[in-house]
Amino acid sequence: MKKKVFIIGSGFSSLSAACYLAKYGFDVSIFEKNDSFGGRARQFKTNGYTFDMGPSWYWMPDVFDRFFEDFNKKSSDLYEIKKLDPGYKVFFKNNESVLISSDVNKITDTFENIEKGSGSKLRKFLEQAKDNYELAVKDMLYKMPGFSILELINIKTILKFNLFLTNINKQVNGLFRNEKLRSILKFPVLFLGAKPSNTPAFYNFMNYADFGLGTWQPKNGFYDVVKSMIMIAKEQGVKLNKNSNVDKINIDSGSVKSITVNGKKLDCDFLVSGADYAHTESLIDKKFRQYSDSYWNKRVWSPSSLLFYIGIKKRLKNLNHHNLFFDTSFEKHSNEIYSEPNWPKDPLFYVNLTSKTYKHTAPKGHENCFILIPIATNLNDSEQVREKYFDMVLDRMEKLTKQKIRGFIDFKRSYCIKDFEEDYNSFGGNAYGLANTLLQTAFLRPKLKSKKVKKLYFSGQLTVPGPGVPPAIVSGKLVANIIKNEGIIR
Ligand SMILES: Cc1cc2nc3c(=O)[nH]c(=O)nc-3n(C[C@H](O)[C@H](O)[C@H](O)COP(=O)(O)OP(=O)(O)OC[C@H]3O[C@@H](n4cnc5c(N)ncnc54)[C@H](O)[C@@H]3O)c2cc1C
Repeated sequence: MKKKVFIIGSGFSSLSAACYLAKYGFDVSIFEKNDSFGGRARQFKTNGYTFDMGPSWYWMPDVFDRFFEDFNKKSSDLYEIKKLDPGYKVFFKNNESVLISSDVNKITDTFENIEKGSGSKLRKFLEQAKDNYELAVKDMLYKMPGFSILELINIKTILKFNLFLTNINKQVNGLFRNEKLRSILKFPVLFLGAKPSNTPAFYNFMNYADFGLGTWQPKNGFYDVVKSMIMIAKEQGVKLNKNSNVDKINIDSGSVKSITVNGKKLDCDFLVSGADYAHTESLIDKKFRQYSDSYWNKRVWSPSSLLFYIGIKKRLKNLNHHNLFFDTSFEKHSNEIYSEPNWPKDPLFYVNLTSKTYKHTAPKGHENCFILIPIATNLNDSEQVREKYFDMVLDRMEKLTKQKIRGFIDFKRSYCIKDFEEDYNSFGGNAYGLANTLLQTAFLRPKLKSKKVKKLYFSGQLTVPGPGVPPAIVSGKLVANIIKNEGIIR
């Protein structure tokens, strides 16, 4: 008889773990509390609009391809995808803006036009970033379950040791004088959830992901990836259950025996949780928890977000698919997220218009828009505060893009801390899990395998390797491999 693995949640890490475990010969079932699959990457459709609720920057296409190749598929057979050109637009103060091309030679020219001599410096910087990418993402990521510091030590990482002693902020500021160029180069590490000044320079591989590999868009949104993973899971025999809240993890003689789903006890041999780590541990008796409340409270959390999904009944000008509004102070805003958490006075924000690339994501002549403002976790979230920020960002969008948007909105939904907590059991309403700082990297992150309960494992953005869709997919594979090595199949 096949050994039974239960998986909590249906985010990218859970779907990935499920596909691999089923392929390895386990009998796998997913239990998702919500009424649709995909976790933070769910999608909703309304009034002719299709909104991805979470991820929108499809970076590191090689990680997606590698997953599908493991199941003898190509991503291009599963969903249509386009490389965006330009990749994105960045707005600065004084009505200035910069377009980031999909061609690295053109980006170098753009840099050179803004700051003399910066083009060749950028090339050199990207050579190092590419080298780090090859090492970190193509090689090490898949071999580092985070058990020990030894996983980090090899001849290549020793040679790069200096990049762990300095940070992105220092490295970029040391190379470029122009504030616009500095902000553009510091933007990619925001995906890792921490301030550039708190992120080791080694992580400049994100700059290669950005300028070198480019920004891509699946035809029907990021949810195309979720759907394809669900298809593979089903092909492998995974049973997917939605509206299935896991209320409790039942432990006997120090080992997981069953879970209680919507009040009903179900027996299993192994349990993987892709739900937020702190929440998963709250489902077991206190004595079996590895991390205390004070541990979680002391972590550096990735930001939460205030999001607006809006439908606009006209086509907008002067905006691209991805737009960063960096017309206020990067430094002040990041302090308001990390150092002195509070609602930001003058936040940077991001605007996504998928209908610029794929018109069918909005009704004819309309625009599909979502706005994201990064904020600290655990803030006091209310309708009034959300409205205040909606007005603030709309004022800036109208001014900087020189057009009226108010009066053309035919759909609006906001999403913030309370929703993250309620929908995903997210600690403090975090959007992207735990930040990848030096002290929260690799073996210093919460573990994939429980140290206190046998047969209990974890995946996802709070554990190894970290936040973002590609790492979540990798974490599913890492945990599946651990179970494969430990579980006796059949
Ligand atoms: C607004 C936003 C924008 C983002 N943008 C990007 C981007 O552009 N590019 C990128 O790469 N990444 C982005 N990310 C990050 C990325 O979406 C996440 O890192 C990734 O999706 C996390 O996957 P996961 O498997 O770790 O967890 P999740 O997706 O959170 O999945 C966990 C699942 O567990 C379920 N669950 C929780 N508790 C229970 C329970 N008791 N019983 C049953 N089920 C339960 C939840 O409902 C959820 O479905 C973004 C995230 C957000 C929120």
